Formats: sequence, C-alpha cells, structure tokens
Amino acid sequence: MNADSAAKKWAYAFTEGDGKNKQLLGGKGANLCEMTQIGLNVPPGFVITTEACLHYLDTGSKEVPEDMMRQVREHMAAVEEATGKGFGNPENPLLVSVRSGSALSMPGMMDTILNLGLNPQTLQGEIAQTGDARFGYDAFRRFIQLFGKVAMDVPDELFDAEFNAVKQAAHVTSDVGLSADDLKEISERFLRVFEEHTGRPFPEDPFDQLEIAIKAVFRSWMGKRAVDYRREFKITPDMANGTAVNICTMVFGNRGDDSATGVAFTRNPGTGEDKLFGEYLVNAQGEDVVAGIRTPKPIHKLKDEMPEMANQLDQLRDRLEGHYKEVQDFEFTIERGVLYCLQTRNGKMNAVAMVRTSVEMANAGLISKEQALLRVDPMHLEQMLYPRLSPEFKGEPLAQGLPASPGAAAGYAVFDADRAEVQGKDMGRPVILVREETKPEDIHGFFASQGILTSRGGKTSHAAVVARGMGKPCVAGAEGIHVDVQRREANVGSQLIREGDMITIDGSSGNVYLGQVPMVEPEFSDELKTLLNWADDTAYLRVMANADTAVDAARALKFGARGIGLCRTERMFNAVDRLPVVIEMIVADTEEQRQAALDKLLPMQRADFRGLFETMAPLPVTIRLLDPPIHEFLPTERQLLSDIDQLKHLRDSVQGLDVLAASTMLLEGVSSSPSVQPLVSLELVEAAIAKKEQMLLKVRQLTEVNPMLGHRGVRLGITFPEIYRMQVRAILEAEAECVAKGIEVHPQMMVPQVCTAEELCVIRSFVDEIKAEVEAASGQQLRCRFGSMIEVVRACMRAGNLAQQADFFSFGTNDLTQATFSFSREDAENKFLPMYNQRGILQDNPFEVLDTKGVGKLMELAVQWGKESKPDMSFGICGEHGGHPSSIAFCHKAGLHYVSCSAPRVPVARLAAAHAVLKSE
Ligand code: PEP
Ligand code: MG
Repeated sequence: MNADSAAKKWAYAFTEGDGKNKQLLGGKGANLCEMTQIGLNVPPGFVITTEACLHYLDTGSKEVPEDMMRQVREHMAAVEEATGKGFGNPENPLLVSVRSGSALSMPGMMDTILNLGLNPQTLQGEIAQTGDARFGYDAFRRFIQLFGKVAMDVPDELFDAEFNAVKQAAHVTSDVGLSADDLKEISERFLRVFEEHTGRPFPEDPFDQLEIAIKAVFRSWMGKRAVDYRREFKITPDMANGTAVNICTMVFGNRGDDSATGVAFTRNPGTGEDKLFGEYLVNAQGEDVVAGIRTPKPIHKLKDEMPEMANQLDQLRDRLEGHYKEVQDFEFTIERGVLYCLQTRNGKMNAVAMVRTSVEMANAGLISKEQALLRVDPMHLEQMLYPRLSPEFKGEPLAQGLPASPGAAAGYAVFDADRAEVQGKDMGRPVILVREETKPEDIHGFFASQGILTSRGGKTSHAAVVARGMGKPCVAGAEGIHVDVQRREANVGSQLIREGDMITIDGSSGNVYLGQVPMVEPEFSDELKTLLNWADDTAYLRVMANADTAVDAARALKFGARGIGLCRTERMFNAVDRLPVVIEMIVADTEEQRQAALDKLLPMQRADFRGLFETMAPLPVTIRLLDPPIHEFLPTERQLLSDIDQLKHLRDSVQGLDVLAASTMLLEGVSSSPSVQPLVSLELVEAAIAKKEQMLLKVRQLTEVNPMLGHRGVRLGITFPEIYRMQVRAILEAEAECVAKGIEVHPQMMVPQVCTAEELCVIRSFVDEIKAEVEAASGQQLRCRFGSMIEVVRACMRAGNLAQQADFFSFGTNDLTQATFSFSREDAENKFLPMYNQRGILQDNPFEVLDTKGVGKLMELAVQWGKESKPDMSFGICGEHGGHPSSIAFCHKAGLHYVSCSAPRVPVARLAAAHAVLKSE
C-alpha cells in the first residue's frame, strides 16, 4: 500500500460530494449528494468512490484501500451524529442500506442490502422503539437473507425452503399472514442456514457487516451479470469504471399511521398536466407497493390523511423542478411525520406529456424556449401524429415486416386493388390491401384502403413511398406472408388469411396481427402547434412536403409544410381516368396517335397542377417531370399472356355457341333456337385480343433487364420529347392561369435522373420555347424555376456544370443511396441489410438514415461545386431521408436550404431542423 492510497479520500458525505461527478461517485451517489446539497431532506449517508472499488479489484489479495475503513468509521460517526442514533447501539440502533451505483445506470445488475446494523441485540432495541415485534423480525429475516445472498453467496433456495416450511406449519398462504413468532422462527432458521452454508456464524458486529457488504458490492462489478450487461450494452470503462457504494440511513414508512411511502411525478407523465401525480401507502414499505400486497392510493388523497405532509410534498415538488428544470420522478418516505426524498430522476413521459410540459415550463419561465425544443425528441412526435396500437395491448403478432409507413390500421384483408376499391370505396368497408408487392396501377386500391401490407419490397419501395405520401400505414416486406391472389387468400405458416378476415397492421413496428387491435387516436394539440412555431423561428432549413395531389398538399399545409418539394407526376398518370389515356399514349404506333393521347392528357395535368398551385399559394410547388420507366404503366407480360389466353378461350366459346345454335336447328328442325344466345360479339372479343397483343408487343419492346437503371427519367424525356413537352406546357399554362386570377404562385419544375449538363440543356430548350409561347398567348410573365434532381453519382461529380443549367438542385437520396452502394432499394432491406446491421458491418439502414460518410460526402461535394459555379443556387433534399432527424442535422451542416418529406413527417422535420441549429451552436 503506498502513501498515496493512505492519503486519498475514499468516501464523501452526501453533504460534500460533487453532484456532477458520476464517474467518481456513481450516478446514484452523485444524485444523493446533489439532492442533499440543494436542501432536500435526504436520509444522512455517504458514498464510497469507484476508485476504491477499482483499487480493491486491482489488488490480488482483494483488500480495501488502507485508509478506507477508517474513513468509513468517521463518516458513520457523522451519520450517527446527524440521526441521533448509534450504529450497533441496542437502545437506539442506526440501520443503513448498502447499494451499488456506477456512472451509468445498470438496472438489476447488482443487489442492495437493507437493514444493515441489525443483530440480536439491536433487533431488540428496534422492537422496543417501534413496539412492533413483527416489524422487527421481518426486517431481520430480510437482512439475513439479503446479506447471506449478496455478500456470502448463500443460495436463495436454502432460505426459501425454510421460509416455506414455517409458512406451511403455520397454515398460511401469504406472507402477510405470518405472525411475529413465525417471523422470529424464520430469522432463527435463516441464521442457521447462514452458518451451515458459510461455515461461520452470522457476523454480529455492525462494522464487520459493513466491511463485508462493501467488499461484496465491489466484487459485484466483476460478477457475471454485470460483465455480461456491460458487454451487451457496449459500456466501456470511459463510460463507467467500477461501482461506488452508497451507505444511507434506513428510514421506514411502516412505523405507524404517521408514516407512509410513495412514488410521484412532479407532473402527469401521461398528459403533462401541471399537477403532482403518484401513489402512496400509509404505514407501508416500498416493497408492499411493488409486491402488490396493498393497493396504493392516489396522491391527492394525502391531503385528507396527512395535510401537513401533503403541503411539504408540494414544496418538494417545486423545489425539485426549480432545481432540475425537468419533470422529476421521485420516491419519498414519511417516517413518523418527517418527509424524506430518497431518489429523484428525470421523468419518462409520452410525447403528449413531453410537448405539453415543454411549452408550459417555458411559458412559466422555468426553462428557455431553446431548452423546451431540445427536450423533445423529434421522432417521438410520431406518436402524436398517427393512430397507434393501444399501449395496453399485449398480443402476439402473426407476422413481421418492415415498418414502412407509421401508424396503425385495421381492416378486412383484400388481395388486389380492384377488390379494395369495390369493398373500400363502393361498399365503405375498412380494408387492408395485402399484396406481394405493389405497382403504380394499384394506386386506386391505396386510396380505398386503410393501410397496405406487402410481402416484398423495402422502405423505399413503391408501396412504402406512396403510403407515406398519403399518410397511410404500411408494413412492407413481411416475407412470412404468401399471397395467392387467385384464391383470394394468404397464408402465414399454417395460418390462413381469407379475403374479409380482419387484420391489423402497425406501420410503426412492422407487426401484423389477426383481428382488430384497439387503437388510440393522434392528438395534434395546441401545445404541439406552439412548440413547432418556436421550432420554425429557430430553424434555418425550410421544411417542405412530398405531395402529389391537392388533397395531399392540403394535409401537408396542416402539418406546417412551407411548400411542396416533390410532386411525383406519375401518381397523376395512375389515376383511374388517366391510365387508359396513358396506355394509349404508350402503345401508340405513330407520332400522331401519341400526340392525340397527349392532347387528352394536357388539360388533365394542367388542372392537376393548378389545383396544387392554388392550394399551396403563395408557397413554392416543385413538380418533377415523369420519372418511372413507362412500361410500369402497362400490365406485366405474364398478366397479358394470361388475359390473351382467356380471351382466346372465350373466342372459342363464342364460336362454339354459333356451332351449337346451328346444331340445335338440325335437332329441332327450326330455323333458329331461342335457347342458344350469342354470349358476346365475336368482333368485340377479336378486338380485345388484338389490343392485348399490341400491348404485349409493346411490353416486350420496352422490357429491360434492369429497368431502374434503364429507360426512365430524363432519358425518357429525351427519347419521347412529346411527353415532357406536354408536362412542361401543363405546368406553365397552369401558372399563367393562376397569375391571370391574381394568385401569387411559385412553381418550380425539376428533371429526374440527370447525369450530364447536356441532358438538362435539351429539356431547358423545351422549357424556353414553350414558355415564350405560353407567355405570348396568355400575356402573363412566368417565373417558373428550373431545377435538377441530383440522384445519380455522376450528377454529383458534375455539379459545377449542371449548376450552369439549373436554378436549384434537389437531392434524390433514395436513388443516390442505391447508386452509391449499388444496393437495390427494392430488395436490400429484406435480404442482407438486416444481417449487415446485426453484424455491425453497417450501423444503420442507409435507406432510412442518410449515409453521411458516403452519400453525404457526394452531397457535400455537389453543394460546394454547385455553389462555386453559381453562388445563388439553392439546394434541397426530397429523398426519404428528408424526414429523418439525424439526416436533417447533416443537411443543415451541409448548407442545404430545404428538406422535403412526406406530409406527416413534416412536424418531425420542423423540430429536427430547429435541433440542428441549437445543437450546432
Ligand atoms: C429519390 O430518388 O430520392 C427520389 C425522391 O425519387 P424517387 O423516390 O421517386 O425515385
Ligand atoms: Mg429517384
């Protein structure tokens, strides 16, 4: 032992320890010091440092530091002085608890010893003082068992066997039925168990007890449970090293009717209401509450039973909040009319309560607006924006997929979009559309459904993106579900789901349940509106929404979107009245035929855009020109082959009927048979076959091995210029119509999948030409801005050149992530990504959390080069990452001007944008 260790301070009284030094005193110890020093009535005690623990563990002989026990004795003397009791004094015994506590809370990791200081003599003093033998023996037997188990490794079973034997002999079933004599006998038996197992008598000297207990707590730091826990939760020595030992005077809430014990929150953790919330029991120990032996009473009743104590509890509440500036969850004990605070920590609350308390505490001047904003985790807000499964519900899911669009929904299962429309829209039944995967032509089924469940596809799959846009719950890629559309059923293992069976999906967890699970409705409260207004005042990033229709746009506005950052025009092409015209356009054999179809689409698109501009006026609306490969609007080859096959059967049947009619004539000798009617005209069937065959031919012509890397986006715009020209005209004419009506609009159009400046030049030339025409025809001056999506790696590398042709860039990080990793956004999340995450090869799912090191690097370069080339360029993001808080923080740092995300994510993004500013200051 060196001189250093002798001179060192190994223990700190609660009155002197540094309440902020959790590394040295452990979280619990530091907190007890802080509580004591701000004047709360904490039972006197002291903390032995984590350094003492490490010292003990380091010495091969497992010795406590040389001077430590001397210091412990000094501290015990001070505690005796403060309490007026004596450690080992049979007249007026001081009892203490001995608890572990490291810098990080490790729940359930190590044990606590209570009632230390009891021995046969002090026990008698305790009984004499309380006049309650039952209480005394109960305390003693608890102490012997805890001490035996924690400090000396005596197995619990040995104690339990004795306990049960006495219980049986006394013919009682519950512990409360045991008499003082029974408990006395139990403690005697426990002492014998202790001696037989350890080979030594139970230590009676309280200081021996204390030293043994301290050493046991030190050793528990390296116990299997603790080591496993640290490994599991990756707790490294710089986070927590060694455990402190807290020695605290025991106080009892079961010393009569002037004693009580309870737990409380300074505000209601369920609603945030500014009122003490909790429970208590008179003449009881904390354990009684936990064990459910007695039912606690609500805290407001305390003022009837103990008015003075209720008063003091209110003062304690104000003091706690005044000091911690945070809602506290605290434990108290009243011992013979004296109120003690035993523990306090920040209260865990749901989102509703977090938001309300933030706003109210800021309004009351307890915290600043900045602190109010920072208290609320943006992702937590989702709870307030979607229906959720009832927190009380505990059922087992039938299957699990990816949580692709948050919220919960219940409905009758249907397996194709048309059936969803019939049942959902026409019959008004709640339905869940269950598909293997969804395609753009399923869109009418989305509209009619409460939620969408797919067995394939990731979080950026079509189903997920569209569902999020509509604010409908979606579980994607639930691979355990096998859908059989023909039989209108799906099976999950041996479980069959038939059309019409009620199911519930939880798009926030990815769980799927059979039957209707109870739900709670969202609450977009006034407090949330206030908090988000504060967020907008703080944020630099503008939050816009991805919305494709005027209805979506109106919803986005309600969530506080300050514009539309992405309108995917393909959604409009899929509307039931458009799809036939779109197909006409695609299968057209001549340019005239195609133009005729486009002429029909033009007024529809113009009306769509005008609807969006008017809804959002005077906020910006960004329309993206057509992006997906056009074969996506056609049925699949398999579908067409099957249709043609069926039509040919029908043709045979129609022809067969003709033959039958002729045969009947022969049989009946009449010129025609009224019993044989033609089914449909042969010409109609022939025409249908010809149309389908024409489509099949087109589908085969358009087929690509890799359509996502194929004929889509701007490539489509260049090869079929008439499609983009129609869209450009529709946008500009819609703008002109709004301007003519005196509506202030800020339209923007953007081009997807761009990889060279030349592509942009081509499209820009259409815009310039059509703009001149529309301006001349309308007499209005148009100011629609022109931008490029940046979702191709080459576009990032050539950002300087592209900037010369564009007013703004919008990062399409869904495709950019796919392109950077070469991971398919449709498949990766269901295949190898979960294992990559599990094994730590990738920390996050890059389709959800922006990969700042790779994709982010490309974005930073593009921003830098874009700015250098054109200083007044603006930058935004419209991939799914635009609604993800840590990705938003990155966008802020990277110098973007806006983020755009699905409408219900807008509040999350608004708060995250404010956090980005506050955390970077
Ligand atoms: C993107 O790629 O990030 C994007 C917004 O476009 P989409 O998801 O429609 O491909
Ligand atoms: Mg894209």
